[in-house]
Amino acid sequence: MKKNDIATVVIEDMTTEGEGIGHADGFTLFVKDTVIGDTARVKVMKAKKTYGYARLVELISASPDRREAACPVARACGGCQLQTLSYEKQLEFKRNKVVGHLQRIGGFGPEVTGPVAPTIGMEEPYRYRNKALIPFGMKDGRIIAGFYAGHTHSIIEQSDCLLTPPEYEQILLVLLNWAEKYRISVYMEETGTGALRHVLIRKGFSTGEIMICLVIGTKNLPQAAREALREQLLELKPRLNIAQISLNINLKNTNVVMGTDGIIDLYGPGYITDRIGEVSYRISPLSFYQVNPVQTEKLYGCALKFAGLTGSETVWDLYCGIGTISLFLAKAAEKVYGVEIVPEAVRDAVVNAEDNNITNASFFTGRAEEIMPELYNREPETYRADVVVVDPPRKGCGPELLETILKMGPKRIVYVSCDSATLARDLKLLCTDSPYRVSAVQPVDMFPQSVHVETVVLLERCLR
Ligand code: SAH
Repeated sequence: MKKNDIATVVIEDMTTEGEGIGHADGFTLFVKDTVIGDTARVKVMKAKKTYGYARLVELISASPDRREAACPVARACGGCQLQTLSYEKQLEFKRNKVVGHLQRIGGFGPEVTGPVAPTIGMEEPYRYRNKALIPFGMKDGRIIAGFYAGHTHSIIEQSDCLLTPPEYEQILLVLLNWAEKYRISVYMEETGTGALRHVLIRKGFSTGEIMICLVIGTKNLPQAAREALREQLLELKPRLNIAQISLNINLKNTNVVMGTDGIIDLYGPGYITDRIGEVSYRISPLSFYQVNPVQTEKLYGCALKFAGLTGSETVWDLYCGIGTISLFLAKAAEKVYGVEIVPEAVRDAVVNAEDNNITNASFFTGRAEEIMPELYNREPETYRADVVVVDPPRKGCGPELLETILKMGPKRIVYVSCDSATLARDLKLLCTDSPYRVSAVQPVDMFPQSVHVETVVLLERCLR
């Protein structure tokens, strides 16, 4: 096959990124926007020796699992990859993704992959996100806001994302009007110039409190514009519980959205508050906070179950953020130590413990892979571990940290992961020539409509 060839394929499988997989003339074709069970006419866009990438031209017969996309820009937007697949099949897809990574990257056999539990799904898999991070751009001389197209930074104009609360659209429209009126320049990645970069909107689903944090590429936003911004957003207040408005300054020409060049509070105490289960949390703009509160409660419930606490354990919560998991576990443990790299998040964690009258949790700022070995080597009695919980970012834990955990020899390790590929890599290291065995794997759907899957794994130390 070669570029521009037209073929008819039956979609037999899907990649972990959500593209359909079909075959034509002994060739494997990856076809975006198709789902397993479709028959489609496709056009080859790029051809290698044995495989190629093709574009959907026409659906000849739709899979019984195909659904109409709920969002008008679902196909172009990079945010959702699975809207056209029934929700039931999305959950199956995610379990399969975890199993595939455990097999191919982790080298695990059926004794581990067989018992992987069905994905825990949502009753209402839209409007579940409490956080939106929306980029601004220019189109035909107008300021626009929207979402990045897949794998690029071109912006698909869209003011209402079906994954976030509908009121975020009203906030966005206020911001766009304000920016036009005060002629705020839009940040351009190519030149690194301009003011308006992104807006971060977050809502505490159980308190209704809303945070708006505008990311700007300048320290010199005129005073009149700042005041107008505050006033215009506060006009929404009778209807929306606007609790925090800030500017985050990002002067660097990078992909990292939130800047480290300062935060200016225009309104509110500097944070919003939310509750998960019984515990209340304060959340600052720079702190990580799980995006799906309904599923987070299920995820933490699973982590708590896997931790198997009786009240006498010393627990480490590595990559603890604002202490969410630490505080969830603290009531059932003797002592919890949390480690987190972002100082603002650690400050939130300390206050969160106080606000919830939790006195047996301590937090350390720094890299988990440095702090834990340092403390353990200094005072192994105090800083021992009965249970270690890790919840790293997508790149996973890395070998230094895993080796320290192995050296500390906890009874149980609970690994919470948002990337099953790095999870499988780390589990392989933890289980090779060691007494640890994977005894439970639970995928949780934190991100319906996307290909992402969260997984909680229990490792137990076996006597040999
Ligand atoms: N457990 C928390 C946060 C998980 S997200 C929760 O459920 O809310 C991962 C966290 O790891 C982020 O807060 C990030 O800032 C932090 N982090 C990233 N690299 C780190 C490192 N090397 N050491 C410690 N924390 C790190």
